[in-house]
Amino acid sequence: MITYYLKICYSLFMIDLHTHSTASDGNLSPSDLVHKAKEKGISVLALTDHDTTAGLEEAAIAAQNLGMTFVPGIELNITWPTGEFHLLGLGLTHTHPDLQSIINELKNQRANRNHNIIQKLKQDGFPVSSEILQQEFPHSTLGRPHIASYLVKIGACKTVQQAFDQYLGKGRPYYIHRAGADLQQAIQAIKASGGIPVLAHPLSLYISWGKIEPVLKELRETGVEGLEAYHPGARRPEGRRLEEMGRRLGFFITGGSDFHGEGIRKDRKLGHGCKGDTLPHRLWTEELLPHLSSIEKITDYTEGGAMEPVFKIWKSNITD
Ligand code: AMP
Ligand code: FE
Ligand code: FE
Ligand code: ZN
Repeated sequence: MITYYLKICYSLFMIDLHTHSTASDGNLSPSDLVHKAKEKGISVLALTDHDTTAGLEEAAIAAQNLGMTFVPGIELNITWPTGEFHLLGLGLTHTHPDLQSIINELKNQRANRNHNIIQKLKQDGFPVSSEILQQEFPHSTLGRPHIASYLVKIGACKTVQQAFDQYLGKGRPYYIHRAGADLQQAIQAIKASGGIPVLAHPLSLYISWGKIEPVLKELRETGVEGLEAYHPGARRPEGRRLEEMGRRLGFFITGGSDFHGEGIRKDRKLGHGCKGDTLPHRLWTEELLPHLSSIEKITDYTEGGAMEPVFKIWKSNITD
């Protein structure tokens, strides 16, 4: 019984600062995602779709109706020589024209790349086309996960994971490189939109532990302010090591599940980071919240605001 109550109390304080919806490559609509998060006991949720802010308004309204704190965000692909560089923008208040133009550019890059992947698949006899994919996923920013799902649907492979491992992942026959946004420009555009730049899952940069610290130091100097130490892509000791290193370099620390929906990448569970551990609530109260509150423009944080909606409504059409 006591464990039951402890569990309930604990779950009241769950947070998740990195999630995806159908606006990018998740499989829950923004409002379904918010409802699911509520069901799981999450009180602070950030939606950080890849290269789009299209889901934020719907999620913000749903979160407001459920009395949850909602942090509007985005996850931008950044040009980088090694691995994958994903930059989160957390606490956006609006889409500044500079952010919009980065989004447009990334959208074009993505469309060209999808087209090239599909052409390659077609040449080898796979029955795919851009039109079919658009019909299958009408509200999404199409990418490899959608192509992967379609390959599963037509029986070309068993799982999305297998589609990546066999066909679409880096080094596989249908992989095509996609350039990203310029880091400096992305940082500026996120800040101009009221948000804070945070390096997502730093280990995806594929830099060895021996070499990563000077790189992170330089990123901090360039203007990245937060470091996502806690993420399912990092093991428990790695998360702690990232937090320690991040702190030493002057970053604040965040964490998120990178949830994409039920049944997609099973290690990504709402509210959970490294090795399935619950994301610590302090990453909100002591890390992100104080940084968001220090941005003058944001006035909607109330005293003890962790249980209050952050934004009455996502101001999608307001620009500087
Ligand atoms: P794209 O933006 O089109 O390059 O697709 C990247 C997205 O594909 C990532 O954000 C993940 O959601 C997903 N993804 C990347 N690698 C894998 C993988 N090995 N298995 C499953 N999903 C993956
Ligand atoms: Fe994704
Ligand atoms: Fe990412
Ligand atoms: Zn993500």
